[in-house]
Amino acid sequence: MSAMVPDQIRTSQAKDDWKPLRKMPSQPAEKYRIGEIGFPWGDAEKAQWLAQTTCHRSYLDEVVSKLQNLDFNNLQVQQYGALQHDPARFPLMAVFSKNWDANKPSILVTGGVHGYETSGVQGAILFLQTSAPKYCDYFNIAVIPCVSPWGYERIERWNRSCLDPNRSFGDDVSKQTEESAAVKAFLHSLGMEKGKWLLHIDQHETTDTDETEFMPARAALQGSVYKKCEIPDGFYIVSDNENNDIGFNTAVIESVKKVTHICPGDSNGTIIEEPLTQDGTIIVPVQTLGLCASVTGAKYATTTEVYPDSSRVTDEQCNRAQVAAVEGALNFILSSN
Ligand SMILES: [Zn+2]
Repeated sequence: MSAMVPDQIRTSQAKDDWKPLRKMPSQPAEKYRIGEIGFPWGDAEKAQWLAQTTCHRSYLDEVVSKLQNLDFNNLQVQQYGALQHDPARFPLMAVFSKNWDANKPSILVTGGVHGYETSGVQGAILFLQTSAPKYCDYFNIAVIPCVSPWGYERIERWNRSCLDPNRSFGDDVSKQTEESAAVKAFLHSLGMEKGKWLLHIDQHETTDTDETEFMPARAALQGSVYKKCEIPDGFYIVSDNENNDIGFNTAVIESVKKVTHICPGDSNGTIIEEPLTQDGTIIVPVQTLGLCASVTGAKYATTTEVYPDSSRVTDEQCNRAQVAAVEGALNFILSSN
């Protein structure tokens, strides 16, 4: 049996089908450790992938236990589900305003949609521990600090089924994951249907392991190969090309600038091959891709991308950068309304 070896692929053909070509025919294919070039993975390769993941850290210790010491005058904790393969180990946790008030604007912060992106999770917890209570005077606040807890423990991008949770939040139910379905059900339980939210910040990282592991794995899943590109040094945001507010983006970037450096873009004026539309900002079709940042239909929504592998930042700074992004967004809303 022979297979057509793809002579060119898109950056993320599997995930989004729209990015510009990255691999050209003249560039040699690098084989990922699982599967064969030209053959998309079947159940056997997916099982092989799952079997070689290992647990690196405890979600209960590093996430759930930290939700036991918050300002419970203003906040409440709720379990909104559990990962079905091990419910005791992976309860799905949300924290939200104790006095949810229909007259206040509502805001959502999500972290750990990609479990390996640590500051997304720890930054959401830091926000709950520090500034969230004081913003409860003005906003209904909901925080889901770790959408994908199995990925957090394994330091993986996908869930156990080789599915990327951050492509599963669109209206196409066939692309839904256990993680996205649980989040949607929780938002529904708050009485907060799509379009009722004012703000959503989805907290992510761009890491060196994107290039060495996660993007090659994604290409291999489709039977394709991946050409490495440059990981940008610095913070940036990914906003929605259909719902892009320049003033809002600026407020987020200016706030983060006080904590860490902003990615300047490469010599072509791009970040991950997307053109910078303003300082530290690229825009993508968030709704079409089914990104988590599309789940609320909020007027203001963006995805943060902290770069934790920079020699110029500490883990603590990365967490504070996530908090600064949320604070910048909230202060923008307070000052413009
Ligand atoms: Zn991510």
